[in-house]
Amino acid sequence: MVQDSNSYKEPAPIKDKENPFQSMMERFDYAAEILGLEPGVYQYLKTPAKQVTVSIPIQMDNGNVEIFEGHRVIHNDILGPSKGGIRYAPDVDIDEVKALAAWMTWKCALLDVPFGGAKGGVKCDPSKLTAVELEKITRRYTANMMDVFGDDKDIPAPDMNTNEQTMAWIMDTYSMHMRRTVSGVVTGKPILIGGSHGRREATGRGVMITTMGAMEKVGLKPKDTTVVVQGFGNVGSMTTKLVREQGCKIVGIADITGGYYNKRGIDVDKAMEYVRQNKVLSGFTGAEKITQAEVLELECDVLIPAAKEDQITEKNAGKIKAKIIIEGANGPTTAKADPILNERGIIVAPDILANAGGVTVSYFEWVQNRVGYYWSLDRVNRRLERMMKNAFDSVYDTAGKHKVSLRIAAYINAIDKVAKTLKLRGIYA
Ligand code: NAD
Repeated sequence: MVQDSNSYKEPAPIKDKENPFQSMMERFDYAAEILGLEPGVYQYLKTPAKQVTVSIPIQMDNGNVEIFEGHRVIHNDILGPSKGGIRYAPDVDIDEVKALAAWMTWKCALLDVPFGGAKGGVKCDPSKLTAVELEKITRRYTANMMDVFGDDKDIPAPDMNTNEQTMAWIMDTYSMHMRRTVSGVVTGKPILIGGSHGRREATGRGVMITTMGAMEKVGLKPKDTTVVVQGFGNVGSMTTKLVREQGCKIVGIADITGGYYNKRGIDVDKAMEYVRQNKVLSGFTGAEKITQAEVLELECDVLIPAAKEDQITEKNAGKIKAKIIIEGANGPTTAKADPILNERGIIVAPDILANAGGVTVSYFEWVQNRVGYYWSLDRVNRRLERMMKNAFDSVYDTAGKHKVSLRIAAYINAIDKVAKTLKLRGIYA
């Protein structure tokens, strides 16, 4: 099945316009080529298993009726029930939801989480909706998806503009229809109604574990390592705190208001307290203000983009000084930047590996809901560490075996697992 990998070069970008999903599919194609996937299996893995679109009529607070559009795409459920977040945004569209669902399939396969991939979205502008309207949209969307969702079928989670409260409404609506409490139908819930300890910080913890794994491979000791983190939200701030706790020096951080640099090391607790009080880093005095672009090009050992997509591009990839990049965000590196970073010998731990801590602890939440027995924070963190380390080591081995980047190796491992499972199960007709 595996062809001569030495004859392959990193994928040359073929499309003019690059978005994170096109970037993902280019890397998928490359990994599929190395695996020598049969054309039928290739088509199967590219095609979503199910797409459902529903209309959501809501009586608004002013008495008028408005119709919203909601989607749920199940990309693949061959490994188990499908899993993926629900986002509320004005630009939600079915193609984007399809791509995000595929992304979830690879993440779950890579981490050995027994779930398939899915994603959902409602086209709406949450900043213009009241809490009552948001609750109505969530409950009607859930009611319309009763045949899709299920604790052993399809399990949503939070994503952009949805949160623990949204998950509580989904759980309650689904439970009302089923005439019993079904906690495991959704993850990312408040702890009081079956959420897991450690879920909120799980993505940042997974990024930290990946960072330590990559540093070990190149012989970097935490006390001698400088780190820059872009993004200071859920993932960025938690990663910064945990990496600092390991002994690294944080020399740069950034948020939407700009970059902040201190070569003697930033006091992370102070920065977090500042953001708790002021929402953003603007005005933080523990570091010198620099631009967002400068942050990415700072002198450091490890760079962790944990803000948004398309931050490392063909324009700045040549100027990055870090030895290691750990992708906390989804899609922070464009496909055109990949070959530049590879040529320069910069190690990149890809998003589908580095930020998979969130979905892994979502899996733990689901397990606890199904068994009805709840774990301590310590148990959650130990199991997360074990699964992240196993995935990292296995990606590292594959990269060595095929002489490819960690990113392509991650796709190879994920696609190989789903393809082999498909072979064993066979195609029902
Ligand atoms: P968030 O909204 O909590 O935080 C985003 C942060 O990025 C904020 O501090 C914001 O100010 C900053 N930011 C935005 N634009 C910026 C720019 N141009 N330069 C510098 N900083 C900028 O979001 P989050 O949940 O932390 O997610 C961050 C990334 O991680 C996203 O790509 C998301 O898809 C990905 N991710 C999140 C999770 C999760 O569990 N939250 C899981 C997997 C992947």
